[in-house]
Order: sequence, then C-alpha cells, then structure tokens
Amino acid sequence: MFSNKKILVLPGDGVGPECVAEAIKVLEWLNSKLNIKFTLMEGLVGGSSYDAHGIPLTDKTLEVARQSDAILFGSVGGPKWDNVERVNRPENGLLKLRKELDLFANLRPANIFTALIDSSPIKKEIVEGLDILIIRELTSGVYFGEPKKIETLDDGSKVAIDTQRYTSMEIERVAKVAFDLSLKRNKRVCSTEKANVMESGVLWREVVSKLHNEKYKEIELNHMYADACSMELVRNPKQFDVILTDNLFGDMLSDQASMLTGSIGMLPSASLGEKKISDRQHALYEPIHGSAPDIAGKGIANPIAQILSLSMMLKYSFDLNKEQILISKAISNCLYKGYRTKDIMQENCTEVSTSGITNHIIDELNNLI
Ligand code: NAD
Repeated sequence: MFSNKKILVLPGDGVGPECVAEAIKVLEWLNSKLNIKFTLMEGLVGGSSYDAHGIPLTDKTLEVARQSDAILFGSVGGPKWDNVERVNRPENGLLKLRKELDLFANLRPANIFTALIDSSPIKKEIVEGLDILIIRELTSGVYFGEPKKIETLDDGSKVAIDTQRYTSMEIERVAKVAFDLSLKRNKRVCSTEKANVMESGVLWREVVSKLHNEKYKEIELNHMYADACSMELVRNPKQFDVILTDNLFGDMLSDQASMLTGSIGMLPSASLGEKKISDRQHALYEPIHGSAPDIAGKGIANPIAQILSLSMMLKYSFDLNKEQILISKAISNCLYKGYRTKDIMQENCTEVSTSGITNHIIDELNNLI
C-alpha cells in the first residue's frame, strides 16, 4: 500500500475552494478504490488568510508547507482585497511560497483533449495531437533582480528600473529539469532567450549548451529567440516537445501556449524545487487560472485544471504514473460523452455544474478500473 504522504491543501479564494473540493473528491476516490492513502492538511492562503490573520501566508502555514510532501493549491485574489497594501496582497502569499520553498521549475503542459479540439481558436490541423511541456524558471530573472525601483531624476522626470539577472547555477538547475523530463518524452528541447540583445541570454545559451554537451547528448537541443518561439507556437506548435525558458519569457510563452488548447479552465501546472537525495522535494500544484471572482460561488467553475493539477502531483511527486494516466483518460471519456461546464460548452453537449462534471469523471474512473 502506498501511504504516509502528507499533502497540504491551500484552497485560497474565489473559485479556488470550489475547484479544490472537486479535486479532493477524486483523491478520496483514489484512497477508497486503489488503496492509496494520503494525509491531508488544510490551510489558509491569500485573501482568506489576510481576513483571518492580516497576512496572506502565516509562518505556521509556511512551516506546514515545508513539512509536506506536496501542496495542492487553488487560487488567490479578488476585488475584495484590491485596496490592501501591496505587501499583504493575496498574490504575495503564493509568491512567498514559491520563493521560500525555492520552487524554481514551473512545468506547464499544453496538450489538447481531442473532444475539445473545436474550442481552440487555432485551426484543428495545427493543434490536433498537441503535447508541449513548457519549463519556466520561476524564482529569478527580471521579476526578482535588484535594483528594482522607480526613481525621480534631477530634472523631475522619472526612471523605472527592473534588473534581469541570472546566475549560471540558476540556469543550469532549471535546464537539468528540462533535459531530465525530455528523456521521458520525445527527447527534444528547445531553449529560448534573447541572446541577440541580452547578456543574460548569452549566458543562458552558454550554460544550456555546456550541460547538454556534458550530460545530455542523446537529446536534440535547439536554441530559438523568444520572439521567434512565440511566432512558431502559433504557426507550427507541434514542432515543440519541451520548451525551456526564463521567468519573463516563460510567463508570456506559457500563457500563449495555453490558449492553443482552448480554455483556461483546463490547464494545470506544477512548481518543483530541488531534488534532494536525503530530503523531500518541495512541490506545489495549481491550475493556471486565477480566482475567477466573476463566477465564484455560482457552481459553474470548471474544476478540470484543478483535477489535472492533482494528477500532475501523482506523477511528479509520487511516481504514480498509472493513476495519473487513469485520471486523464477519465476526463477524456467524460468530455467524449459530451459533458461540459459552461466555459467549454459546445453544441449538442450537456451543460453540468462544477460538482456535476466531477461526478461524471468519477463515473468514468469507476468504468475504467
Ligand atoms: P482568472 O484566471 O481568474 O479569470 C480569467 C477568466 O477566465 C474569467 O472570465 C474567469 O471567469 C475565467 N475562468 C478562470 N478560471 C475558470 C474556471 N476554472 N472555470 C471557468 N472559467 C474560468 O484571471 P483574472 O480575472 O485576471 O484574475 C482574477 C483574480 O485572480 C485576480 O485577483 C488575480 O490577481 C488572481 N490570479 C491568481 C492566480 C493564482 O492564484 N495563481 C493566477 C492568476 C490570477
């Protein structure tokens, strides 16, 4: 029996708690049918933590996160906290978790369920069979580099400064994640930066090439400027297997790739820390969407991105690959039978609620075992 793994559940705000509740139903199904036992702990993050404690993440919750084998995260934020001082904004709870646990590798798969192919804004033949994994560096680069400020100049005008900064260690460790994951896929990595105009891009290219030469020669590596990659993602996205990129370009490219698949309610992500031999690898799993305040509380949110985030957890934190595939198949079968939440509703399909679609997914899980 697989047991004794501790999961910290942080539902957050808006549709976060609604979607997380559905993922927990799937986890409970795994517990009851497949004898996989997880211990769940729940905590507050984001606006809900601010309301209770005056800060978006308490030290106590952070400590529980450090002791957990994985974190299942919902989403944070919403207009209720728009006027809260910057340091205590809900989003800072998530940023603090990423930074404190050093979750430097962000994995964002962009693959399309065949039943939803018509939801993509891109032509069917271009996206059919799409299966890309974007690895974005998450804890360094221009979002964190110092100096970072706005200053007033002598003539009274202002200057804003952000600093793009990468060390070779930061580049190497995220490149290693990309190479290792590509070994389990199609052994192709496309590394993207702007080496033509940025020093950080020059170093990025140098470090990735060196690592490739030394340890990963069986992988096909190519380098592409980030602007060209953005264009190629629309023109011919199926040329990509694994895309490796920095924090800023990864932010853009992964959002762009997500839209190839049709709906924001369908896409999960994983953020991983260093793999240590003696210690646990920190990992946080969350949908890519936000707290969707416009639909929160209406029972119409799509929980599939959250359920797929759970399935990524099974794969990347617990090596439960068969269970991950099982969940993916159940979702696919449910979509084939025409069950849809409002965001992915199509002609001749049946619209169901947040919990309704989960119930159909669980029916499919039962059919599959
Ligand atoms: P959003 O992702 O919350 O919503 C964008 C659009 O997608 C909305 O129309 C929403 O209704 C829809 N949508 C999102 N998730 C959906 C789902 N599961 N099912 C169906 N439709 C869904 O982005 P936003 O509106 O820009 O941000 C809302 C709040 O979320 C903000 O406070 C923002 O800061 C926060 N946010 C949080 C995270 C996070 O927690 N990781 C990420 C992005 C945004």
